[in-house]
Amino acid sequence: MSGRKIAFLGDIHANLDALKVVLADAREQGVTDYLCVGDVVGYNACPNECCEIVRDLCPVTVCGNHDSYCGSQEPLDDFTPLAAAMVTWSRAALSPENREWLRSLDHVALAMGVTLVHATMDAPAHWGYVFDEFEAESSFAYQKTALCFHGHTHVPVVFELHHGCVTRLAPKFFRLEPGRKYFLNTGSVGQPRDGDPRASYCIYTPAEKSVEYRRLEYDVAAAQKRILDAGLPTRLATRLAEGR
Ligand code: ZN
Repeated sequence: MSGRKIAFLGDIHANLDALKVVLADAREQGVTDYLCVGDVVGYNACPNECCEIVRDLCPVTVCGNHDSYCGSQEPLDDFTPLAAAMVTWSRAALSPENREWLRSLDHVALAMGVTLVHATMDAPAHWGYVFDEFEAESSFAYQKTALCFHGHTHVPVVFELHHGCVTRLAPKFFRLEPGRKYFLNTGSVGQPRDGDPRASYCIYTPAEKSVEYRRLEYDVAAAQKRILDAGLPTRLATRLAEGR
């Protein structure tokens, strides 16, 4: 394990422009390994390219809700018209190999000493959101490792469990304290929603017991153009510039 620097990528959402910038930064930072907390596809216009890069790079990817919707042919009755249009487009765009790969993903995985889940540990297939300490506490009850990386809200944040008490830490560089548990949201590579349009990911360095969050500018206009050229809903392009 020593010498490893592990990048955690999440909510890439078919945004190739953002993913390329994140990977270039990770290489510069000396990252040796990559893991993915899900939602490789959906929203943006490059699902196949992103699936192929992630399949190649990450020995483990967990299933996100969009991976599940886009990889299956389940009816979209409960979806808003905008969401249904987006999922229908992604389904048609995905190659059979990538669709098969999305279907093969597990909801929870252990890799390199940490846990990966897309949404929550208490109900991984129900796609609940962890926005506050109370919701994090429910998830911690099922977390066996000191670290669990997740995504889904597209908001980078760290929840720390210490003596039964959950507190929220800012997503920046910090050192892990012994005896504590951490539930870490990587933030979103491809569609950030914390008001900051820059791509988000984090790096865990086991030997240093440290985690660093990184934010990177990428060519938002290029990603927007791909969305519009693909005939996807305009709202999916405008929200990238807002980080919402
Ligand atoms: Zn997502």
